[in-house]
Amino acid sequence: MVKYYMNKLTVFNWKNNPNSLEEAKSLFNSIKEANDLEIVVAAPFIYLSALKSEELKNLKLGAQNVFWENQGVYTGEISPIMLKNLGVEYVIVGHSERRKYLNETDEMINKKVLAALKVGLKVVLCIGEDLAIRKRGPKAAKNCIKNQLEKDLNGIENCKLKIENLIVAYEPVWAISTNKDSRPDTPENALEMIKFIKELLITKYKLQNTRVLYGGSVDSKNTKNFLKYKEIDGALVGGASLKKDEVKKIINSLK
Ligand code: PEP
Repeated sequence: MVKYYMNKLTVFNWKNNPNSLEEAKSLFNSIKEANDLEIVVAAPFIYLSALKSEELKNLKLGAQNVFWENQGVYTGEISPIMLKNLGVEYVIVGHSERRKYLNETDEMINKKVLAALKVGLKVVLCIGEDLAIRKRGPKAAKNCIKNQLEKDLNGIENCKLKIENLIVAYEPVWAISTNKDSRPDTPENALEMIKFIKELLITKYKLQNTRVLYGGSVDSKNTKNFLKYKEIDGALVGGASLKKDEVKKIINSLK
């Protein structure tokens, strides 16, 4: 039996914004009006410690990336255990921008997913097809997703991991707001893909409770259209999460 969540999970992905800690704190505090909603703020590493000292209320902190080793000679990397010990609960892994600009492969993403789950972090694994694949039709898009999931979750069933901490975000790359000519997916398409992902998670990994979010140009105008479906467990919001008035409206539309 698939589990449906009454509370939708919203993850705000700030990417490499804003430019100063003051701005980060101000944006963070504006989100606190969230009351009892489940909201994660995925902030740049450099702000996490300071934001942790703010009064969090119901906000949760997330990182936007993590390394796969907990220790060693890996200059510049941040380990899962560092995030955990800092009190960070969530981490985004496999975002399409990291796949594209940092050349992250599915093999690297798989190592990150396993390492982060091992220390008890909640992992938001991003998957999604690009425009060239989408143009070949829904079957090609589903094949791409299936492939990504197989590689990114390789070995998940064999490890003693807290797999209930896995969350998947379906983010069609062509729908992410910063991409040229991007446009939001239709809620109907997103629903079809998310149902497909849930089916795969259940049949292949026996993961019946895994939340699947939608991400791609979600804003205050379309949040409800996506989240009205019981199968869509929440949203990953990029660009709109940096605008205080948008944040307020998104939160209001979730209440
Ligand atoms: C994202 O970066 O994950 C994202 C969904 O961005 P946007 O909401 O700006 O499309």
